[in-house]
Amino acid sequence: MELRGLSLIGAELGQKGGAVFHGFNPASGQALAREFHSASRAEIDRAVALAAEAAPIWAKLSGAKRRIFLGAIAGKLERDAPGLAELASSETGLPVARCSGEIGRTCGQLRLYGLAGERGDWLDARIETAAPDRKPLPKPDHRSMLRPLGPVVVFGSSNFPFAYSVAGGDTASAFAAGCPVIVKAHPAHPGTGEWVGRLVAEAVADCGLPAGSFSLLFDAGFETGQALVKHPGVKAVGFTGSLSGGRALTDLAAARPEPIPVYAEMGSVNPVFILPGALAERSAAVAEGLHGSATAGVGQFCTNPGVIVLQKSPAAEQFLQTLIPKLEATAQGPMLTAGIRKNFMTRTAARGKIAGVRRIAEAKADAAGSAAPVWFETEAAVFERTPALSEEIFGPSSLVVECRDPAEMLEVARHLEGSLTATVHASESELKGQSALIEILAEKAGRLILNGYPTGLEVSSAIVHGGPYPSTSDGGRSTSVGTRALTRWARLICYQNFADSLLPPELQEANPQRLRRMVNGEYV
Ligand code: NAP
Repeated sequence: MELRGLSLIGAELGQKGGAVFHGFNPASGQALAREFHSASRAEIDRAVALAAEAAPIWAKLSGAKRRIFLGAIAGKLERDAPGLAELASSETGLPVARCSGEIGRTCGQLRLYGLAGERGDWLDARIETAAPDRKPLPKPDHRSMLRPLGPVVVFGSSNFPFAYSVAGGDTASAFAAGCPVIVKAHPAHPGTGEWVGRLVAEAVADCGLPAGSFSLLFDAGFETGQALVKHPGVKAVGFTGSLSGGRALTDLAAARPEPIPVYAEMGSVNPVFILPGALAERSAAVAEGLHGSATAGVGQFCTNPGVIVLQKSPAAEQFLQTLIPKLEATAQGPMLTAGIRKNFMTRTAARGKIAGVRRIAEAKADAAGSAAPVWFETEAAVFERTPALSEEIFGPSSLVVECRDPAEMLEVARHLEGSLTATVHASESELKGQSALIEILAEKAGRLILNGYPTGLEVSSAIVHGGPYPSTSDGGRSTSVGTRALTRWARLICYQNFADSLLPPELQEANPQRLRRMVNGEYV
């Protein structure tokens, strides 16, 4: 693929002329040669106008056609996978094998969401038939379901150049739900973004879909993203990234004359509670598993375990003595961007200065742009009175919180902020006594994990990747991963006493799509 460094406005390439920026190779520390050109205001307006034109066509497009389109994108990604993985690796510092694996996951996701969209049960079609003779008042015929919102803007993430970027989860779920998509390309992997964007545009053309089905806009700064969120033609936003970015965009969307939903996934501390019975049974195995989870991908996962809660004991001491050498022997690795590394260095330095916080492990990181584990330890009381310790440090840094007894563990749990996940390690026999802890954690997190680790997310119909604020902007009422993600891009509509011929097929009497529907309170 010959890259041009230009936005894609529907089927057309954008113009040069906007602010120029370059990709960056975190492994070499060098800026990459290719220039990328920021979209102009006219291009933003054009992309949104095209998407608005495409929206009614997309709303009526059959689930089968959406599935075929998503499958076509996946096929093209698979065809170009070797080149794409090489390019993404050079732009992110992630190993080629990791990038290849992520392309596979992205293709699986596209196909899974396509199938879910076609199956249609996510539409939650419900029918209450009329009872004209009901007393004292006749009962009307009500038929309701979800319908697509219209143009969706997606902000891809820096840490998943495929699975949560241009053709990633937000884009795939919005298409599967029947919405056109405009992606604000992440400047940390612009070449990968353009290549994938061009494949999506090819699939749009191959499938005979309107040009406005998809646009990809570059920007050297925040202007394009903010203009898109404020644009009256945009109806919803998907975002993966920092709390500050997600919050800024959520506030912008809420302040519009017509507020729109922003589904922002902003990362979290993913607490891991390790109970005494688990340490007695398998201390070394937990140390091994936790080390793997906390250091994978240089710790740059939103599910990275950032707070580890233990009860002080000789067994806990032994556990740390097993874990610390592993952390200190961990090889350094390049961080995704200079900004992410700068944040990591600043925030670990600040954490080390908090009274009552001790640095317990620090691995060597002397290569430019790289980081390695930096772990801290504190007592429950310090954790509870220091809000800064509840904040995520993106990268390979975690905080061990030592508690005196089970009651203090519960208190720490109560002080946690909203998280994507919460994990408990316990022996079989001590599990029965943990209902209070589990109940508190259920209030705090979107996914509870027993005797496992938070990284490594399975994309499925049952997964939940969301959680109370600040892990997401919508209080954890939705998920950004899994087939439930489709519902974010739709709203409810109810038809009262409508002629069958005017109803969408999903609600027609004959049920031509053979959907599973709730009819008079029963699923049929
Ligand atoms: P980010 O700074 O939040 O950026 C994500 C996207 O949002 C980028 O396209 C960025 O544009 C845009 N953006 C950010 N703030 C904005 C604002 N105020 N107005 C308009 N657009 C805005 O995330 P990042 O660059 O990927 O990484 C930085 C930090 O995000 C990390 O240190 C980490 O804390 C967090 N992070 C979280 C996750 C997660 O899974 N939740 C993933 C990756 C990173 P520009 O790039 O042009 O600035």
